[in-house]
Amino acid sequence: MNFGTLAVHAGQEPDPTTGAIMTPIYQTSTFAQTEPAVHKGYDYSRAGNPTRTALEKNLAALEGGKHCAAFSSGMGAIDAVLKLLKSGDHVIAGNDIYGGTYRIFTMVFEQFGLSFDFVDMSDIENLRKALRPDTKMVWIETPTNPLLRIVDVRVATQLARKNGALSVVDNTFATPFLQKPLELGADIVVHSATKYIGGHSDVILGAAITNDGSLAEKIHFIQKSSGAVPGPFDCFLALRGTKTLHLRMQRHCENARLVAEFLRAHPKVKHVNYPGFESHPNHSIAADQMRDFGGMLSFTLKSDDISSAKKLTTFTKIFTLAESLGGVESLIEHPSSMTHASLPRDVRIKSGLEDTLIRLSVGVEDGEDLIYDLEQALDRVSS
Ligand SMILES: *Cc1c(COP(=O)(O)O)cnc(C)c1O
Repeated sequence: MNFGTLAVHAGQEPDPTTGAIMTPIYQTSTFAQTEPAVHKGYDYSRAGNPTRTALEKNLAALEGGKHCAAFSSGMGAIDAVLKLLKSGDHVIAGNDIYGGTYRIFTMVFEQFGLSFDFVDMSDIENLRKALRPDTKMVWIETPTNPLLRIVDVRVATQLARKNGALSVVDNTFATPFLQKPLELGADIVVHSATKYIGGHSDVILGAAITNDGSLAEKIHFIQKSSGAVPGPFDCFLALRGTKTLHLRMQRHCENARLVAEFLRAHPKVKHVNYPGFESHPNHSIAADQMRDFGGMLSFTLKSDDISSAKKLTTFTKIFTLAESLGGVESLIEHPSSMTHASLPRDVRIKSGLEDTLIRLSVGVEDGEDLIYDLEQALDRVSS
């Protein structure tokens, strides 16, 4: 079955007792047993819940994977995947990964004896050079946030495998509609389903997906043991989101291209980071491993006055100033003071994240209106 059909149907069937078309919200913590330890597949909702099962099956199908574990947040999923490692293991991650991922790696897991190196993986040589005999995990984000760099997933996951390391792709930005990391060689895909998968900025949720049965068993064991599970209502919201993922992504991509082209031609804009441009350094890899180029982009102004950049984010009327991304509504933000403020400034600057960078999550509104909005906002900042 193709993506759009899976999005609407995978993991879900009319409810056998009532015929309800939508998967019920099984708002229960526990389940009746007929004899001790004899039950209908569920005993306690931390270990499993039917609404969650429907979501897990749906997300597994969309990623082309066999197994999925859903978590109460993207960070919950990331935390669980890191717990596959043990003290002394070395991890290589991209140098402009999600700020919260950088924070849990350095502020939480370093305390437990894991060590991390952060490299610009858009040049694969940097990954090759950083691999060590004790490297047990390679953490890939592509497109990266907020610089929209592209990592060659096929090559990066092959290098990891040759080194005996697991490869993990955070597929939040691309979504399985645009990019299928398991097919490109990744061992595990993680998601912040809070973003495009949920799609309506109304739920915090995460997921980890794999084809490897023994990894899946370990991840489910950690899910149950650590307990960062999503509630049934959150699972229902995410399932409602996946039904239109393909439709939303098409419009996100279409609008982002319009906005990127508008910004590139604007006299006050210095540079636009958008993988759909042929001038993007890794455009050909993006074109090869992605169906389209996504709804995210970032740009800098010609003026290097940080206050111009900050002001611009308050001048837009349709783009709302807010963190997060991937919802139907367009958002604008200033990474160095918001989403990426937890990265030390020297680390940020070294990775190419300038103080004046502005990030857009382009929504599914009318594209022309989005351009008018940016145009009037840019008119008001000094050049
Ligand atoms: C938001 C985000 C996360 C964290 O997910 P939460 O659902 O906020 O916990 C991880 N990775 C990426 C790329 C994100 O954008």
